[in-house]
Amino acid sequence: MSTSRTELKDLGKFKLIETITENFKLHHPTSIHGIGDDAAVIDTGNFYILVTTNMLVEGVAFDLTYCPLKHVGYKAVVGTMADIIAMNGTLEQITVSIAISNRFTLEAVQELYQGIYRACEHYKVDLVGGDTTSSTSGLILSITAIGKVVKEKLCLRKGAKPYDLVCVTGDLGAAYLGLQILNREKKIFEVDPHMQPKLEPYQHLIERQLKPEARTEIIQLFDQENILPSSMIDISGGLASGLLHINKVSGVGITIYENKLPINQKTYETAEALHLSSTLCALHGGEDYELLFTIPQSELPKIEKHPNIHVIGYVTDVSLGVKLITNSDESIEINAQGW
Ligand code: ADP
Ligand code: MG
Repeated sequence: MSTSRTELKDLGKFKLIETITENFKLHHPTSIHGIGDDAAVIDTGNFYILVTTNMLVEGVAFDLTYCPLKHVGYKAVVGTMADIIAMNGTLEQITVSIAISNRFTLEAVQELYQGIYRACEHYKVDLVGGDTTSSTSGLILSITAIGKVVKEKLCLRKGAKPYDLVCVTGDLGAAYLGLQILNREKKIFEVDPHMQPKLEPYQHLIERQLKPEARTEIIQLFDQENILPSSMIDISGGLASGLLHINKVSGVGITIYENKLPINQKTYETAEALHLSSTLCALHGGEDYELLFTIPQSELPKIEKHPNIHVIGYVTDVSLGVKLITNSDESIEINAQGW
């Protein structure tokens, strides 16, 4: 047995996954893509099946002090769905596994499942199984999603080409700021339980944090307009992380512009009030469940008028790295930790 000891905190999540899975080979020709994209790709003959799984742990992914269980359930389905959508696929089935402690009542677990039910009804997804076990502390929720994509329409993180346009959907940074506001109000409440939380002014941010939606309409638009992104990734882990993944896997550079980042007015104002940079929130905040994709320039007329698609930059040669051109025309290298 090895006597060496590596602290996980020094390794980081991606290096950890890479290290523990490096010896695994794919044995079956039906396993088209294994580890490394938003979902695994399995050949069924006529189309590809997409499989992904997401685990949420109480106290890490959600805080039940301000996140109602219904929202935890809804958001868990949306989060898993985002990985299927990022492959240009549609989600058809989910399985849900829970580990629960005695702290929870039947009514609490029912509330969690009401949220899962709402998401299944809204997005026409079938709950087809799962597992239930006990936990010594708190709630753990794991969702596996099974989706489908026509073979020719599969989108990977790999495939972006120099001169392609870099696009994102929706607006960025709001979910992160929603979380900051909820944490702030929680702290105020802990000091003085008579204080009523002041959440109304932050409705957009809190909704983006507690009840995100999946961008199914973008996948439908791609289908209708016959658009095939050259690469695509779900950016629930943050825009910067998504850009770096495409940079690494596609072997290209990317330049984006600070003044093109889609940031809601409320996000700007709240970031300023909290002495945070709205640009940093948009780049690194995460949890927006939006899509980052690249398309050839010739496709611009098909998307430029869409209210929820924003061109933020373009693909370059790999030697140029991943850059942000700031509002003062400075070129700054984007990295995972912030700049
Ligand atoms: P995402 O951020 O899209 O949810 P992750 O960063 O969690 O994806 O995972 C990156 C890749 O590594 C995915 O292909 C995922 O399936 C795979 N992966 C993550 N954790 C493990 C694990 N413990 N064992 C095997 N594969 C894993
Ligand atoms: Mg993903």
